[in-house]
Amino acid sequence: MTLTAYTGKILPIWAAELVMRGRLVAGNWKSNGDLASNQRLLEDVRAAARDLRGVECAVCVPYPYLFQSQQILAGAAVVWGGQDVSQFGSGAFTGAVTAAMLLEFGCRYVIVGHSERRSIFGESDAVVAAKFDVAIKAGLTPILCVGETLREREEGVTETVVGRQLDAVIGKTGVAALVKAVIAYEPVWAIGTGRTAMPEQAQAVHAYVRSAVAAHDAVVADGLRILYGGSVKAANAAQLFTMRDIDGGLIGGASLVADEFMAICRAAGRGQ
Ligand code: PEP
Repeated sequence: MTLTAYTGKILPIWAAELVMRGRLVAGNWKSNGDLASNQRLLEDVRAAARDLRGVECAVCVPYPYLFQSQQILAGAAVVWGGQDVSQFGSGAFTGAVTAAMLLEFGCRYVIVGHSERRSIFGESDAVVAAKFDVAIKAGLTPILCVGETLREREEGVTETVVGRQLDAVIGKTGVAALVKAVIAYEPVWAIGTGRTAMPEQAQAVHAYVRSAVAAHDAVVADGLRILYGGSVKAANAAQLFTMRDIDGGLIGGASLVADEFMAICRAAGRGQ
């Protein structure tokens, strides 16, 4: 299908460029690591990333290790980011880390609304939308996580839940902000469980996300990178990345093992 056929309009050059979706594989270290093991992992990732083609590689590390990541990855073919950001600016917000602080340490990305933040730390859709908004305004690229629990899937409300999470953000920032963002579909039942969504199951939700965004703006939807996350490993990555609307992965456990993580990055590059 041509761009014109899909959108029903003749698009300007910038819009045509927008639809060339790049692949992205981002590691989410969660609350793992120490200085010594990070050093080995970051150096291995940096070395292997030299040969990557057709994919951008990122690591989202705990705050205290941003400086170390910046030191080791500066100038490499790997970018880095945080796993959360404060919805506030600087001031009396004990424990909170601002977008400006993340930028000072060279972050390009920040994960927003990870299911662990939503369920364990009680972040509502409104708080997630506020964090997304702050990240966009600061010039960080938010990786917005959406996804349903097992119960919600079994109740057949996956699209309702994901649509609600998405609408909260679009309602706050407007759809145009998604040009500067990434979405990660992460079914909660697949995170850290070893249970991956079947490629077709994931594709169905990715297609839904794209169509929900297209209802606001078809060009933005075409250019939107939608990652899949949930027990992705080297062994199952290639199949997932053959799906039309899967533009890469958000990788938890497997991002702590350099060989495994880089194999996933290579699989995403090949699927390009
Ligand atoms: C995650 O934490 O975002 C994630 C996808 O974890 P895992 O790959 O370990 O399931």
